[in-house]
Amino acid sequence: TIGNLELKDPAGFLNNKFVTNARSGQRFSIFDPARGSEIATCPDMNVEEVEEAIQAAKKALPEWGQKTARERSVILRKWYELMLENEMDLAKILTWENGKPLAEALGEIRYGAQFFEWFAEEAKRLYGEIIPSPAQNQRMIVIRQPLGVVGVITPWNFPSAMLTRKFGAALAVGCTVVTKPAAETPLSCLALCELGRRAGLPEGVIGVVTTHAHTKAVGKHLCESRDVSGISFTGSTAVGKILLKQSADTVKKMSLELGGNAPFIVFEDADIDKAVDAAILSKFRNSGQTCISVNRLYVHSSIKDEFGERMRAKVAKFNMGSGFDKGTTHGPLITEAAVQKVHLHVEDALKQGAKALVGGDFDDKDSAASRIGYFYPPTVLTDMKNHMRIANEETFGPVAGIFTFETEEEAIELANSTRMGLAGYFFSKDMSRCWRVAEKMQVGMVGVNNSAISSEVAPFGGVKESGLGREGARQGLEEYTQYKYINMGI
Ligand code: ADP
Repeated sequence: TIGNLELKDPAGFLNNKFVTNARSGQRFSIFDPARGSEIATCPDMNVEEVEEAIQAAKKALPEWGQKTARERSVILRKWYELMLENEMDLAKILTWENGKPLAEALGEIRYGAQFFEWFAEEAKRLYGEIIPSPAQNQRMIVIRQPLGVVGVITPWNFPSAMLTRKFGAALAVGCTVVTKPAAETPLSCLALCELGRRAGLPEGVIGVVTTHAHTKAVGKHLCESRDVSGISFTGSTAVGKILLKQSADTVKKMSLELGGNAPFIVFEDADIDKAVDAAILSKFRNSGQTCISVNRLYVHSSIKDEFGERMRAKVAKFNMGSGFDKGTTHGPLITEAAVQKVHLHVEDALKQGAKALVGGDFDDKDSAASRIGYFYPPTVLTDMKNHMRIANEETFGPVAGIFTFETEEEAIELANSTRMGLAGYFFSKDMSRCWRVAEKMQVGMVGVNNSAISSEVAPFGGVKESGLGREGARQGLEEYTQYKYINMGI
């Protein structure tokens, strides 16, 4: 029990009830990443249970879809209020299973809640269209209808906000959902569902299948089911591609928020202090585990040393620790495997000539087995080269690599030299350059002289292999609706 939220045996969630025992008879463990110790277990549900959730969502669809937009809006609004009333409890659950510092967790809960508020309002604005008819005896009308049952698969890095962003839009327009949260962080999802139940969601509108061993089979079943009309996924590009392929035979609508490899360009005319702060915010939030985190810092060669030094000085003051400790500024990574991947990227860079301004290796050189928790020291590397792994793969950890460039054309070419295209950032005081570069960056979101770009009112999403569709904003409703054109002969 955390405060007002009682999650007795952590469980799945079907028909507004927690399911404490999986048919498989198996359970899987959830770990505290700051200690590496088990904090709870969840039932390991399988294909039978996801099918049950799909049928419950299908059954709930007509009633939920036929409610007035205002009726759905009232429930979403209530859910928003309940999230805020229980924000500290939700934040604690989040810090517990994900590791991020409590203040950051609280930030995610508030940010996440705003999607319910936003979509409670947008629910009422699902306008259609009347097209001036070219024929005298016809009238042409376009209405928008809910997609149907939607499969929702979410990652562990924002276990609460990634769900509210999807639930808010889906439920606002009258869809029902079957959810598979990440196995590392199912508790935040379950806590959210409990509040949804209290807010008045009818049975079957949301189903949650907690699973670890059956992840692939459950995902495949969601993709191949004829009763599921769309998939909304946030996670890696590799898994996104699998889901896209698996969904081809049933021609599903896909909303995919996949990996990024964000460039951050600092031109010679930039405000260096602001650029350093923005780079740090974007690079080290959630210890670098966000898909819009800066992955490649391109700094003009004339200011590279100054930029590196200012960044080093700030990063050296970070305080790594448990998210519950007051002085902690940065928490652990999600798993030991994540730590190893980050270290591999750093070692690769160092071996090929990069220099560590700060970090670059474990503080104590103990073996992984004797270290406590999944920590990796915040690292700033300089003298990076374009063939290093960090330049080409998403590192997803607290490592900032500084590359240099000479001209604007070169910087743009480097920024675009990846198959990813989620977010991109740059700093410059030259107005014309700001327009030029923003338009040329091959990404779905650009931060110009700013790196705090996420907002429930703005469309989040990528181009190239970073995904399909947009979340949040007015555009977020598109993913969960389809147009119907009615031609009325008179
Ligand atoms: P990450 O690297 O962030 O863990 P993943 O893409 O592996 O990214 O995970 C995101 C979500 O996708 C998680 O809920 C995970 O369990 C789920 N997932 C992973 N593999 C599959 C799969 N083959 N089918 C369906 N879901 C999957």
